[in-house]
Parts: sequence; C-alpha cells; structure tokens
Amino acid sequence: MRRIPLLPIAPRPYDGELISSWQERVACRYGCTADQIDLWLECGDDDPARRFLKRDFHPRAQMLKAWARSCRLRPNQIEAMALGRMIRPAVWYVDDRRERGTCAECLDEDAAEGRDHFLRLKWGYVEAAVCVKHRRTLRTYCECCFARGWFRFDCLRGRAVLVCRACARPVSTTTRETEAPAFLNFQIELAKAIQAIVEGRHVLSTDDLTVAMQFLWMPTHFKGKPYIAWLRGAFGLHPLASAFQNSLSDLSVAWRIATLLSAAQLLDLVGARQLFGEPPTFMEQAFAGYLRGSPSSAAERPAPATKISSVKLQLRSDAEYRRLAEKILASGEWKEVAQMKGRSRDWHVWRLMSEALKSAPVQSGVLPPASS
Ligand SMILES: [Zn+2]
Ligand SMILES: [Zn+2]
Repeated sequence: MRRIPLLPIAPRPYDGELISSWQERVACRYGCTADQIDLWLECGDDDPARRFLKRDFHPRAQMLKAWARSCRLRPNQIEAMALGRMIRPAVWYVDDRRERGTCAECLDEDAAEGRDHFLRLKWGYVEAAVCVKHRRTLRTYCECCFARGWFRFDCLRGRAVLVCRACARPVSTTTRETEAPAFLNFQIELAKAIQAIVEGRHVLSTDDLTVAMQFLWMPTHFKGKPYIAWLRGAFGLHPLASAFQNSLSDLSVAWRIATLLSAAQLLDLVGARQLFGEPPTFMEQAFAGYLRGSPSSAAERPAPATKISSVKLQLRSDAEYRRLAEKILASGEWKEVAQMKGRSRDWHVWRLMSEALKSAPVQSGVLPPASS
C-alpha cells in the first residue's frame, strides 16, 4: 500500500483566500514552490499555461485530493475555494498574477494580527483597483524598489510573508495614499457597479459592457488610433489597437483600469461624466452607429483628449424632464422600443433620452441654484 506523503506544517486556508495563495504559503514553509510540492505529491501538471484557471478556477480533483490528504484537510474544504463554483465567469478575473494588485495595508494588518500574508480573491477581479477597507490603490509593483512583477512568499520567523522578487523586502506600507478622494470614491463605486453587472444585479449586462469596451478598442480613421486613446490620451501609454481581445482579463493593469474608466464615461456609469466630462461628440455618434451596426460612421474628426475636470451638473426643472419624457412616450418610435427586450431596449431608451436632451438645450436662467 502506498504511503500518504504528509506535510507536518500546513497552515489552514483563510476566508476569501485564493487556493494558489494557500498552496504557496504551505510551500514556503519547505523552501519550495507549489509546483515542486505538486511533483512531490505526484499530482503535477506538465503544461504551465493558464495557471490561474488550473489552480484557482477549475483545479483538478486529483491535485486537490493530494494536497488535502497531505495537509490533513477534507478535500471539500479546498474545493469550496474554487472560483469556478461562484457566479463570476473566468474572463472577469485577472489571469496573470503579475497584473493583480495587492494592498500593503491589508498585508500589514495580517502581520500585526499574527497571520500569514495572504492573497485575497477579490484582488483578482478585473475591476479591482482600490482596497475599499483602506481606500488605497492596489499596487502591482514594489513600493521600495519599484520593480514590477509578481511577489513570492517567503517564510520569515515562522510566518509566510509576501516579498518582492527583486529586492526581497516584505510588502509593507511605505507610502501614504495620495489619490484624490473624489477619484478614489469613483473607483470604489465603479468597482461595485461592475461587480453588480457581472453578477446580474444591474440594469446593464456584461454584454452591454463588453460592447462598449469593444467599441473603445476599435481603430479610428486617424492613424488607426483606437477610440480609447481620445478619452485616456493623457494616460502616458500608447495603446495597441489589438490589445483588447473581448476580455479585460488579459490586459495590463494600467489598460484594464483605463478601459473600465472609459467604458464608464461612455455609458455614464456612476456619474463618470461629472468627473471626466462628456465624451467627444464624434465618439458618441460613432458609438450610436456601432450599436446600430455601422461601426465606421462619424469617426473622422477626433477631438482632443478630455482632461479630468469637475463638470457642473446641468440640471433642468422637474416639469421640463416630465415634458421631455411625455414627448418620448407620445412618439411613434417609442411604440417599437417598448416592444423590445434586454440590451437592445436599454440602448434604444438611452438613445431616445440622449436625443431628447440634446434637442432641448438647457436654457440659462432656468437652472436651479447649485446645492451645497
Ligand atoms: Zn487594504
Ligand atoms: Zn522591491
């Protein structure tokens, strides 16, 4: 009978932890990697591609069973951590660990409370940009040496600690957050909205969001520069038109966040236009054409990139909104739109509302005084 290999020191998984994080915390106690433990347990995978899918999303039953036995856990304790059991599809997670951020203050709390550092599964969401608890931007680089790339677990004084591969320093809070509060608030609200969309709790669907992102990465007639470049032109990076492949999960963290901010601006999610301004008119027209199935319309006169600025909300009186709504409901087009369903209906409603608002510009003198 084959003897079951046992790992005498095997920490338990934490709530909200990735399977890969737990495995690496175990492995660092033995000065090796999770892959090397796999080989020792004879449950290794020869193909190193899509490691996130194989360890965290759809882990192989043989691997889970071998790790559970050697760590004296029930297999279903680890199976319950598999992300494939949850509502969120794999494409809404960041595949490449180097592009997933971490919150140094969360890790400092782990250390202060006598826990191992551990990687939260929420940091793997494509929309994860800020730690809600600490209002701190998730970092993908070392705050000591600024090396980009992933971190590794090391065993220091009996605890698993996430350290930089370049300078070997533990990940810890070294800088104070300097992001503007309004931008942090917006990112937190946007992440909540994206989460609601992914989980089917929002008026928009993942298809709506994906269509907007596909449009943003389409090349315009101006040197093939994609639409997103006109919204995030001051972003400091040159986007490649081919970078987006219908999923955020393969984009670098910088372009993943830029794509989400741009989609929010285009769809006016969580008040994005109040923070970043209106998208250029040529882009709105091209987007409307794209939704109608004529993607190349009106893409010839790009406007300068919009700067982040505070835009005054142009409110109208309740009576005027009512008059515009009644005008839409009385139109012949509304009868067709009212029969539609799902995404198509949402977008036609959005289009009718936009057209009605544009056809009746806000008159100076009818704005209510700004409330403070
Ligand atoms: Zn945190
Ligand atoms: Zn470093």
